[in-house]
Order: sequence, then C-alpha cells, then structure tokens
Amino acid sequence: MQTKQDVIHWLEENQAPFIRMADEIWENPEIALQEYKASKLQAGYLENEGFTIRWGSGGMPTAFIATWGQGKPIIGFIGEYDALKNLSQKNQATQEPVVPGGLGQGCGHNLLGTGGLAAAVAVRRWLEEQGKPGTVRYYGCPAEEILAGKVYMARDGAFDDLDAALNFHPSSINSPNIGTAVALNNLKFRFFGKAAHAGASPHLGRSALDAVELMNVGVNYLREHVPDTTRIHYVITNGGDLPNIVPAEAEVWYFVRAPERAGVDEITERVRKIAQGAALMTDTRWEEEFITGCSNTLNNHALADLQYRAMQEIGPIDFTPEEKEYARTVNEAFPPDVRHNLFLGLRLPPEMEGEPLLGENYPGRNEGEISTGSSDIGDVSWITPLCELNTACHSTGAPGHSWGIVATGGMSIGHKGMLHAAKIMALAAMDLYSDPEQLRKARAEFEEKTKDHPYRSPLPPGAKLKV
Ligand SMILES: [Zn+2]
Repeated sequence: MQTKQDVIHWLEENQAPFIRMADEIWENPEIALQEYKASKLQAGYLENEGFTIRWGSGGMPTAFIATWGQGKPIIGFIGEYDALKNLSQKNQATQEPVVPGGLGQGCGHNLLGTGGLAAAVAVRRWLEEQGKPGTVRYYGCPAEEILAGKVYMARDGAFDDLDAALNFHPSSINSPNIGTAVALNNLKFRFFGKAAHAGASPHLGRSALDAVELMNVGVNYLREHVPDTTRIHYVITNGGDLPNIVPAEAEVWYFVRAPERAGVDEITERVRKIAQGAALMTDTRWEEEFITGCSNTLNNHALADLQYRAMQEIGPIDFTPEEKEYARTVNEAFPPDVRHNLFLGLRLPPEMEGEPLLGENYPGRNEGEISTGSSDIGDVSWITPLCELNTACHSTGAPGHSWGIVATGGMSIGHKGMLHAAKIMALAAMDLYSDPEQLRKARAEFEEKTKDHPYRSPLPPGAKLKV
C-alpha cells in the first residue's frame, strides 16, 4: 500500500472480518463496564496484527490500549463498545425485541469501535510498508453511555502523549462535527434522617424524603437564575419503603449540564448549597456521591478539513434501493414531529425532508452550535486535537438511543457507514503521518484554543468508579 487509493482499496477488499466483528458485538450487547466480550474480541484481533495491549486503563478491566510502531507522530483512534438497556431488537426494519427488556446497540457503538479499529489496522499496514516512523494507537474505551470511560482513562494519562486523535460516531449523515457537546456532572445526593412510625410518632422522625423533595424544589427555583443553555435533570432513586415509616434514607440522582466545564462546576456548587439547605430545613444529614463528569467537546477544524478532503476523495456511500426502503420503514415507525426535529438538526435544504438515507458527503456545518447531549470524548478533545467525524450508519428518522438505531446498526447500512468512516479516518491519519504541516496546523489550533484553559479532570480527587 502506497497511495490513499491503495488504502481505500485495502479496506474494501478486507472488510469482511471488520463486519463480522461489528456484528458479533451487535449480537452480544454488553452494558457499560461489562464489555468483556467486545474488548477481548477487539484486543485479540489487534494482538494478531502486532499491536501490544495494555489492559485496565482508568481502573476498568474492559479498557485497553493497543499500540503499534515507534516514534512520532503518535496518532490515536478512539473506540467504544457499550450498549444500552431496553433496546433489544431483531435484525429487521420493524420493532421487535430479541429479548424483551434486553440490551441493544442503541448508539451504534459496535460500529464506532470497529470502524476505529479497522482504520488503525489499515494505517499500521501502510506505515509498515512505507517504512515510516510513527506510532498507531487504538483505545478500547468502555462505558461511554455513563460518560465515564474516557474521563477515568484521561485521569490516568492515557491520552497525554498523543499528537492527535481520530474518532467517529455513527449518525445519519456524513460530515465532520464542528459543533460542541455540553459538559456534565453526574452525581447523587443522599440524605439521612431518623425513622419513626408515621402514624404513632411522626414527631420523633426526621424525613430524608422531605429533604430530597425540598432539594428538588430548591433546584427548580434555581432554574430561573442560570443561563438558558443549562440543563438540570434528576430522578429520585430512593424515596423510602413504606408510607407509614418516616424514611430514614433517601437519594436523588442529578445530571447538571452546561456548554462549558466552568459553568457545570459553578452550577454544581449552587446545587450543593441547596442540598445543604434542604438538610438544614429537615434536620437531616447529607452526603454526595460524585459518579462522573465530562468536558464539553472542542472539535478541531483543521482535522475536520482533513476529514472532508478524505470524503471527497472517497466519494459518497452507495446505498441500494433496498437499503433506502429498509430505512424508510424504520423512519415511518417514528412520529412525524420526531422525524421533523431530527431533520432540522441535519441543517439540509427543506426539499430534502423525507429522504430516508443520506449517502452524500457534507463539510462541517454546525460551527459554534451547542448540542445538549454530552460525550466523554469531550475530555480527550481537551488533551489532544480531535474532531468527531459522523457517518451515515442510520436512517434519518430514528432518534438517538432508539430501537431504530439498533435496527440499522446490525446490517448493511451500518456496515457501509462504518467502512466509510474507517476510510476517512485512515486517509486523515495518512496526512498527519506524512505531512508535518497538517499536524502542525491541527496542533496550533488546539494550543490556541486551550492556552487559557488547560485540561482539568472533572473528577474530584480520589473519585473512584464502581466497577
Ligand atoms: Zn454514542
């Protein structure tokens, strides 16, 4: 393999094992931190390709870092593999679970991880044949769905020596994402009061549930005095056992999101004060369990340009009429307002509404836009230049984390989107290895954007993930 066309060709010719791998992960969905099969499958493949594997980054047994080659530059490909609850789905265009209530790849992470792995393998083969210096890394990152894996790996220094990183996320459109995903804190507040018989001696009790409810009321008043872009959501995870016992223990679980890390930190402090106030009002005690936090995403435009250039070299994805029909059937299962909202997010001309599947390539089109979702890829983007690539692995009308995403992620639509991403990432990496000017540009942009805000882990000292 010499040229970019050779690498594209190699990925075409050798797609079968990568498709098998993606399908195997799709057929055996595993929840965050339990991705034993997926991580073993990927690490085993990379080991056979000459990569050395280091397990357990960030204290997670399903995290691994695969390294091949030596010297600079060091380019990382970021993978994920975790699935979601209640999204079990047969490999068909209409909703029907394999196991009712079971797991499913509702975010396409079977494709995400395997696409990155395929790119890493292609680039490693090209580097070797070229006799070029350079190191290829693949990161097997667990637990993206609980926004934890990369944050804990980052705290371990896993990404510190990278010159740049490439990753992709399955989507319904081929385009580099140059918007940002918001930062987040994920934490629980537990209150401790005194149990008492609620009928006979309520005056002897101190209700931890009262504290939870008053805390939530306080937070709901806080909403008026935070920027519009803030999101605060909660669920009560323990509200006591029986109405006739004053609850001695209660718990509420919070997510706090804001466009930047500093905003999340500030609002979390105010939420803590409310917890303190609720404890005072109810004569209870409170404690906090900080589960995880993540940073907003800083997408690198120089890398987005390389990705778009690669897309133009590769051409669009050629979806067949059968695949379009399959996508249309999936879309039709979702309400028109859901589909319309998704279409608006694609920022396409209005006459394209109703297209079930998009094979064309688009340049980055969401500069400065803030998506209210979060991803732990954000933390990597503050440590090394990175731009999240999106490719069309799903139909246009299936919302994120739905059975519709699962339905296209285990068949040819998902396979084609994954292969497209692998080619784009491989070509972008070839530019970074062979053209120092491209890497310099990406790094200069990164240094400029981060110079006043060096990366700080969102995790408080000593935070430990329950594995
Ligand atoms: Zn995802």
